[in-house]
Amino acid sequence: MPAPSEHVVDTIARTIGFTTVSRDSNLALIEWARAHLEGLGARCRLTYDSERRKANLFASLGPEQDGGVALSGHTDVVPVDGQAWDTDPFRAEVAQDCLYGRGAADMKGFVGTALALAPEFVANGLRQPLHFAFSYDEEIGCIGVRDLIADLAHAGIKPDSVIVGEPTSMRVVIGHKGKHGYRCTVRGLSCHSAYAPQGVNAVEAAAEIIAYLKGMARRFRDRGPHDALFDVTHTTVHTGVIRGGTALNIVPKECSFDFEFRHLPGDDPAALFEEVKTFAEQTLLPEMKRVDPVSGFEWEVLAVMPGLDVASDSNPARLALGLTDFRDIGKVSYGTEASLFQQAGMPAIVCGPGSIEQAHKPNEYVSLDQLAQCEAFLHRLMHRVCG
Ligand SMILES: [Zn+2]
Repeated sequence: MPAPSEHVVDTIARTIGFTTVSRDSNLALIEWARAHLEGLGARCRLTYDSERRKANLFASLGPEQDGGVALSGHTDVVPVDGQAWDTDPFRAEVAQDCLYGRGAADMKGFVGTALALAPEFVANGLRQPLHFAFSYDEEIGCIGVRDLIADLAHAGIKPDSVIVGEPTSMRVVIGHKGKHGYRCTVRGLSCHSAYAPQGVNAVEAAAEIIAYLKGMARRFRDRGPHDALFDVTHTTVHTGVIRGGTALNIVPKECSFDFEFRHLPGDDPAALFEEVKTFAEQTLLPEMKRVDPVSGFEWEVLAVMPGLDVASDSNPARLALGLTDFRDIGKVSYGTEASLFQQAGMPAIVCGPGSIEQAHKPNEYVSLDQLAQCEAFLHRLMHRVCG
């Protein structure tokens, strides 16, 4: 079985040693990566969060010119709280041909491999720019990378191809779903449950909207549209949280619930949201208002992530397909930062070592075979952009 070089494994282990759970600072890792890349002559740009506890790093090696390739990854990891690990999650360990540690697959395996090979790219003489885009707070809604992208737009920096190294088992992914999350708060009117018709039951109104959402979910499942390249081939709808009511003998005056659409790139999430609002306002609201004119709904946007849909003959797709052992392309149901790069005019694909199956779980790992494939991928890239 092919193995990654020792230097790659050591560098990944180093990145895992930085405890960069999203709620914590990532500055130690970012400063270390910056020092490493600046030592190679990189031009570095940092964008901070409002408290300056976290930063994105964008570093450019090679000639100062337009275009080039960007290797992109997030530096934050999900928490290990409540998870039963057999090893220290922040101390990488190699066992049974796998490297274990928080972020091994998602996605310090890729970030570490890219950093380990940076000196070799420089030594071979870059003919075009090679960029490193490392973000914070990806795991809590792709927060950090939005500032990084805005900074690039401001500076007029636009890579031709962005490779986002989220775990795809080194397959080239040209599409993923978008995610739009919302909170609906129902304002009703409280009263003694013996006089229920004099109140506006917020829990029941919420339940009717949730049932409507479930109906939408069934419609997409049964009637599509379907895209067979996705593992879940249609847009999905899901309600994840509900809060409301105080006691059985009180008509509840408030209820809120959180729901989301994970939509095919071709489906319009704004239209889906409008459909739900229209149902609530046309079917439920008149009856509520007859009892209490101030009852109604508040809608709040919780998350907005566009879908990714890159042509298979686009720059990054052609480039990446020429660098992998797999010639097939895929689409995935989880979201990544790639769609935000694409939206900003920087075409992006997703390709990285490890499987999403191991992400976010206890005993997260990436196989050494996957790391070797990632290293080979970047070596082939070296032949394209150097010399
Ligand atoms: Zn990730």
